Amino acid sequence: MLSYSDARQKVVEVAGSIRRPLVRETIEIEQAFGRILAAQVNADRDYPPFDRSVRDGFAVRSADALAPGARLDCIGELRAGGSFAGVVGPGQCIEIMTGAGVPEGADAVIMIEHIHRDGRTITLDRAVKPGDHIVPRGNEARAGSLLVPVKTRMGYAEMALAAQAGATRLEVFARPRLAILSTGDEVVDARTTPGPLQVRNSNGISIEILARTGGAHPIQLGNAPDEKAALRAAIERGLEQDILVLSGGVSMGKYDLVEPVLADLGAEFHYTGVAIRPGRPAVFGTCRDKLVFGLPGNPVSTMVTFELFVLPAIDVFSGAAPRPLPIFRAKLATDVHEKGPLIHFLPARIDWQDREARVSQLAWQGSGDVVALASANGFLVVGPEQPDIPAGELADVLPRRGAI
Ligand code: AMP
Ligand code: MG
Repeated sequence: MLSYSDARQKVVEVAGSIRRPLVRETIEIEQAFGRILAAQVNADRDYPPFDRSVRDGFAVRSADALAPGARLDCIGELRAGGSFAGVVGPGQCIEIMTGAGVPEGADAVIMIEHIHRDGRTITLDRAVKPGDHIVPRGNEARAGSLLVPVKTRMGYAEMALAAQAGATRLEVFARPRLAILSTGDEVVDARTTPGPLQVRNSNGISIEILARTGGAHPIQLGNAPDEKAALRAAIERGLEQDILVLSGGVSMGKYDLVEPVLADLGAEFHYTGVAIRPGRPAVFGTCRDKLVFGLPGNPVSTMVTFELFVLPAIDVFSGAAPRPLPIFRAKLATDVHEKGPLIHFLPARIDWQDREARVSQLAWQGSGDVVALASANGFLVVGPEQPDIPAGELADVLPRRGAI
């Protein structure tokens, strides 16, 4: 059986091999958070556009032998956005604010904290070197140079940079459309009252949120019963989208029909199981040039396998590089014992003390236990090579998306 990292790699490979044009659209910058840039943003002018003072103080001439005790005549004031027609001459300085353009003649700024003032006379407490507290024009970026490359995922800093350059309408790749289909005779809509042996569809919402925050456009197809013809019809509707994500119906039970129905539809399976718990029966295939994920229906399995396997596919179909899994090491607060050949993703609480990450495994009733997962902010990731890990040792942890 595939390891989870090989399964992710397989998803990236297969998603990258599908012939599918990346559609572009133009959107307002406010809508661009998390979107993937399709047309690069260039600098519309030099940045900074002028020699910028980055401190409040006095613009001076470094040629004036500026040692402590040196005295200068202050000839005026320059506010941010203001201009100064004259030139700062020998023995002169000008009061300058952060963000103002350094006037002609001056080539350094001394901070206001480092001078004494008596009327127009400024006495320096410190030596001054050429260029002190000035960012010269063009030192951040030259006019015409590349600021934000194609395939960038737009976050607040990238968006601020685009806004700075006046790129307030951005060309981005269209989000991949992701159909969500839950399966199970016992599953009812979350807005209805279930019968005593029925369960509400909670996977619909977890998948929708994971899909949307991952960069896809989710499309809800509701629930299909464990019956071949109806399931087939629902899957065919799902195959109209770029990615189809099913939950449930991929285990060994008599009424787990997702795989046989997909096979009837001509699907090619790239894996039909991954060496993880929860999530072992996860299935990935292609059908009619669309990606199909069959995630186990137990809600924690569904969420874990979506994070592990569907998110990289969304990345690739979004035109972006697949994001790495942000696993890191944390110190175990409790002993951990997990036997068997699989890698476990166990609901856990991660916190930090004195800049050190610590992790505690939470009690849980297995992969149906959403109660436990909702109080977890991550997963403890333990593999067969270390079945018993004592408290105090370091272990792998994976933050739960959006919870840290
Ligand atoms: P399955 O993967 O179909 O064998 O389902 C495994 C378990 O997950 C069963 O207990 C199902 O009732 C439950 N389950 C399946 N689909 C959903 C869903 N959409 N929402 C909540 N629980 C589900
Ligand atoms: Mg089922």
